[in-house]
Amino acid sequence: MINDSSVLCGPDGPRNSVALTLDEARDAIVNRSKQLVTEAIRKRGHDSPPFSAADYADLLGVAKIVKTDLRELGGALLRYGNGSFVIKVNSAHIPTRQNFSSAHEMGHILLSELGLESRLRDSEFRTRRFNPQVARKSRNKARERLCDVAASELLMPEDVFKRHLSETSIGSLEGLADMFGTSRQTTAIRIAEVSPTPCVALLWKPQKASNSMPLRLEWHVGPGRPTSRSGRYFPVTESAAIGGSVYEAFRDGKIVKSYKEFKTRFGTKRLRMESKAYGSGATKYVISLAFETGKSNPPEDQFGWFPGGRS
Ligand SMILES: [Zn+2]
Repeated sequence: MINDSSVLCGPDGPRNSVALTLDEARDAIVNRSKQLVTEAIRKRGHDSPPFSAADYADLLGVAKIVKTDLRELGGALLRYGNGSFVIKVNSAHIPTRQNFSSAHEMGHILLSELGLESRLRDSEFRTRRFNPQVARKSRNKARERLCDVAASELLMPEDVFKRHLSETSIGSLEGLADMFGTSRQTTAIRIAEVSPTPCVALLWKPQKASNSMPLRLEWHVGPGRPTSRSGRYFPVTESAAIGGSVYEAFRDGKIVKSYKEFKTRFGTKRLRMESKAYGSGATKYVISLAFETGKSNPPEDQFGWFPGGRS
């Protein structure tokens, strides 16, 4: 038993004394989400995308999903005394975002059902000098990430998504996003998570709402879905200079192909990258997918990459 358990326990207290690492918690919520996908597919009678959060409502005791004014919040979960739930989603958001927010709230139901929050033992908590505030922040971040993991599995079930992912390319991103009714950003993340070809998804945004500034890396994911830093690839540079390929994609709106260096725990790797701009005006951004080219690279396992992020 860990000695800072009082901090790690959720408001509902320690239900289960078996501590979990973040990887184990992720696997638990993915497995439970996969069960729900199987049940939902059986109920629907087919597994054609898109999947809606509403497909899972009955299975989770969600009485209804209500669209309402939530100001800056994406979604909220209300629990009633009889054990049923109501999910509220922001009526001002676009349908794809509402759907993801609903599925994310369902992730909170799963966290609670599996008692994950109280079982979560993030190894960082133990190495860091004990500080309740830091621990709480880190735990909240981990919790929200796990809910996104669940939402991603519910709306883009791995097996179904992989079947439709004929090639890992930026060209397939829009088609997949339309097919699954998901945003381009969550779809890009999903590609990086489950692509059979090791792939990193990156999002770039202008530093200012101006076309004459370099772009800044907002986030990057993959390859696979490691929960620790060691399994990820890190771009050597985090800004896209004027005149570079990412900037060119941002400016011209076409797919731009290039190469990019990534730091891995086994050294530096050069990946083939494709970039494309989406959105318009102040919300314009670039998504890049970088992937291993195959031939010139040593076997995958030398780089500590495991298909699907699980061994
Ligand atoms: Zn949340």
